[in-house]
Amino acid sequence: MLVTTHLFIPGPTKIPEAVRSAMDIRMEDMRSPEFPKFTLPLFEDVKKAFKLTNGRVFLFPSSGTGAWESAISNTLNRGDKVLMSRFGQFSLLWVDMAQRLGLNVQVLDEEWGTGVPVEKYAEILTADKNHEIKAVFATHNETATGVTSDIAGLRKALNDAKHPALLFVDGVSSVGCIDFRMEEWGVDCCVSGSQKGFMLPTGLGILAVSNKALEAAKTSKMERCYFSFEDMIKNNDNGYFPYTPATQLLRGLRASLDLLLGEGLDNVFARHHRLAEGVRKAVGAWGLKLCAKDPKWHSDTVSAILVPEGVDSAQVVKTAFYRYNLSFGVGLNKVAGKVFRIGHLGALDEVMIGGALFGAEMAMRDCGIDVVPGSGSGAAAEYFRSTTKASATSR
Ligand code: PLP
Repeated sequence: MLVTTHLFIPGPTKIPEAVRSAMDIRMEDMRSPEFPKFTLPLFEDVKKAFKLTNGRVFLFPSSGTGAWESAISNTLNRGDKVLMSRFGQFSLLWVDMAQRLGLNVQVLDEEWGTGVPVEKYAEILTADKNHEIKAVFATHNETATGVTSDIAGLRKALNDAKHPALLFVDGVSSVGCIDFRMEEWGVDCCVSGSQKGFMLPTGLGILAVSNKALEAAKTSKMERCYFSFEDMIKNNDNGYFPYTPATQLLRGLRASLDLLLGEGLDNVFARHHRLAEGVRKAVGAWGLKLCAKDPKWHSDTVSAILVPEGVDSAQVVKTAFYRYNLSFGVGLNKVAGKVFRIGHLGALDEVMIGGALFGAEMAMRDCGIDVVPGSGSGAAAEYFRSTTKASATSR
């Protein structure tokens, strides 16, 4: 079976050597008296990745979806009214989960290629004088369409409406890549996973929660067991877990945090922005368009590129895979066949991005898309050459 060498899907992402070797260890005793010396500082440093000083983080042996379930089932009650918006495969799945867990979801269906409709949320929250809405949900970065939404704006909408609803954010493809300020933006639950900005294998559902969310958990009556905050807190307070933790992933997480915090989060964000700009220059030079409808939605972690009418984007992805040993993301659901996605998040630099663009040009030409060879990769190269690196950290 062929496994591509050049991985440019929007997660899982490349694992840096330091992270990989940190996980290449003997199995360890997760109940040893030494273990808390490792875990307690780890919990504190994970909080830093979310820009959180109060509250707590939970590290579940799951993917990001498990952290979603934990956030909902610990803080809300069946029948609670919540406000959500759907504009891509992941925001869609979140709505689906909320409905299946018994929440009364008010869904705003937005055009795919746009994001959280902050103005509409503001109107609805302002009109909700009895505070029936218990939580407001936002997908920070919709990975299916390459759209980033304005979470600070959403907090402002809640504040302006003097609305006490909890604010839930899906940060699966943004935390550790795109500016995210959990505390400053008053986010109550932020969900992430290990396989994107944290540059690890899949297997950790990473959930950051505010003190307000922890308070809500005390009165929430929804059924939960494996994902219970309470069980986690009881054990995490002493540096342990209620079940066997994924110790190698935790060791890898330590190394990943050392890289992220060592580079400096703001430098990490600037690097992602610069690499994303290079990709956007390439898309422009190819004469193609992004799925994101407006620059204000541009994502710095993934670009969903629209192929011309009459071309099946899945063919481009397949061709890249089989002919060039290169993986791009396929179009999902409503944008299947219409877009292919270049993931530009995690442990990447300019030359790696250049390779992906060069590969995209070959695959697109093979599929009959008339892009000028070297046009996109050249435009990105000129952009990288003429702008300054934010960080000198080698990947
Ligand atoms: N939310 C977003 C924005 C995602 O991109 C993904 C996965 O790609 C998920 C949620 C689901 O996360 P997981 O696959 O880790 O369960």
